[in-house]
Amino acid sequence: MLPRPDLCGKRGLDLLRDPLLNKGTAFTERERDVLGLRGLLPPRVHTLDEQVERVLATVRDKPSDLERYIYLTSLQDRNEVLFYKLLGDNLDELMPIVYTPTVGQACQRYSQIFRRARGVFVSPADRGRIREVLRNWPHHDVRIIVVTDGERILGLGDLGANGMGIPIGKLALYTACAGIHPRWCLPITIDAGTNNQALHDDPMYMGAKAPRLRGAPYDELVDELMSAAQELYPDVVLQLEDFGNANAFRLLHAYRDRTCVFDDDIQGTAAVALAGIYSSLRETGGKLAEQRFLFMGAGEAGIGIGDLIVDALVSGGMALAEARRRCWFFDSRGLVVRDREGLVAHKVPFAHDHPPERDFLAAVEALRPNAIIGVSATPRVFTEPVVRAMARLNQRPIIFALSNPTSKAECTAEEAYGWSDGRALYASGSPFAPVTLNGRRFVPGQGNNAYIFPGVGLGLICAGATRVTDEMFAASARTLASMVTAEDLAMGRIYPDLARVREISAAIAIAVAEVVFARGLTRRARPADLAADVHATMFDPRYEEYL
Ligand code: NAD
Repeated sequence: MLPRPDLCGKRGLDLLRDPLLNKGTAFTERERDVLGLRGLLPPRVHTLDEQVERVLATVRDKPSDLERYIYLTSLQDRNEVLFYKLLGDNLDELMPIVYTPTVGQACQRYSQIFRRARGVFVSPADRGRIREVLRNWPHHDVRIIVVTDGERILGLGDLGANGMGIPIGKLALYTACAGIHPRWCLPITIDAGTNNQALHDDPMYMGAKAPRLRGAPYDELVDELMSAAQELYPDVVLQLEDFGNANAFRLLHAYRDRTCVFDDDIQGTAAVALAGIYSSLRETGGKLAEQRFLFMGAGEAGIGIGDLIVDALVSGGMALAEARRRCWFFDSRGLVVRDREGLVAHKVPFAHDHPPERDFLAAVEALRPNAIIGVSATPRVFTEPVVRAMARLNQRPIIFALSNPTSKAECTAEEAYGWSDGRALYASGSPFAPVTLNGRRFVPGQGNNAYIFPGVGLGLICAGATRVTDEMFAASARTLASMVTAEDLAMGRIYPDLARVREISAAIAIAVAEVVFARGLTRRARPADLAADVHATMFDPRYEEYL
């Protein structure tokens, strides 16, 4: 059940300064009298809707997206109901500010824009007392933690402790998109040092000026954090975010059979991409089993998507080896082939027999893929010749440029539609504006995992899950794809309208919870009305009567 607001005896300024209790100018006359607020607020009482109108105008008035981010952060720190009402009602406009792409800029400028602390930092200096450090967080009923070590922030690389913007932003989306109560959310950044020389040279940098911790000391730090979190919050869901890829795969494999943990970059991205593929197939008329995929980038996102496609093919009856041969990868060293030396473990299953190839266009011509999926954090590598080749090889080429932020997209929406004569089924990681081509308007889909992770988190919380499995992500992908309407597809959009995200998250939560109960990955019994249970757990940003 949702936490009830508890004033804990707070009155006057203390009340105004508590972001989970503050209503600002919406405190009623009676509340002002009884709670010692009379005179501390301007006289006129506003409704929540009036407040939203005012703050939205202020946001729009700001001269840049970074300024909008700073303003929204301060609003979140002042009045969470108002922040979430504003965000939820204007998700299309504000999600790109609160999350990618602007959050990337905010992390890069974190030391300059830091105002008020949120979340918990853990560093090697805290070894042996991480439990006590977590205890300093004021809320004790934590149900979901997003944790990063800042090594691979979006496609921006190692931002060290400045990565804190990511777990904060991501948790804001858990609340805005799936109604996970803000009191249940805890952002954590492991400051394990940084190898980013610019941060070492920056006198304002707020993290530890030490090289990145590696090996056993790093693992012990993470292990102490994981144990402390589970001990303090036995029902917690842990989401790993923006770790460097060597650690991301290792940590996921080390903990997934022991705790309720998932890595959104690997698993959430996979589900959103697979959902986009299912929708695209409704347009191309093909079957998943007939497709060949070529990935640009063989890291967390790429391998995660490849693994989930393979799972889906195997569930459909295809042999594992054959399913893997449907997915080809191209990385910074060229096509991933069996004879290449020094392949890291996560690429090996996808290293097929083929001569080495350093040129992506040549790889497209040789492999004749139906879909190219960009997850390389390298801008503009889907060049005009590449897109034209895809359009020659396929009536409806599937072209996903999923890298974030916008500046890293493998090609823009305009390029994909323009170079394919409007035939591409396109999705990007960060949003692109609609494109008009020969009088036809295309609305590019945003293959943003914000369609997936909030619902997954909600489902895991509602079911009291003890583990997270790939089957849950496969179910999420099918659920998301099933919510794409014929109207969406008619305008070129392979994902549903983001305005429906709460409805989508609830449907995904139900699908995930069904898997949890079916597989017995919980100590709880399935409620008679699971859907009602999920909906009753969703926080709705509105003011409670305190008196
Ligand atoms: P990663 O560091 O794990 O992997 C990056 C991969 O790209 C590596 O295999 C690397 O070899 C390859 N690469 C680098 N330069 C290349 C080049 N010039 N040509 C070909 N390959 C190259 O990173 P990741 O977690 O997989 O993320 C990659 C990108 O995907 C990032 O920009 C990230 O923001 C984005 N992403 C998007 C979403 C989404 O929801 N749309 C989700 C997760 C990640």
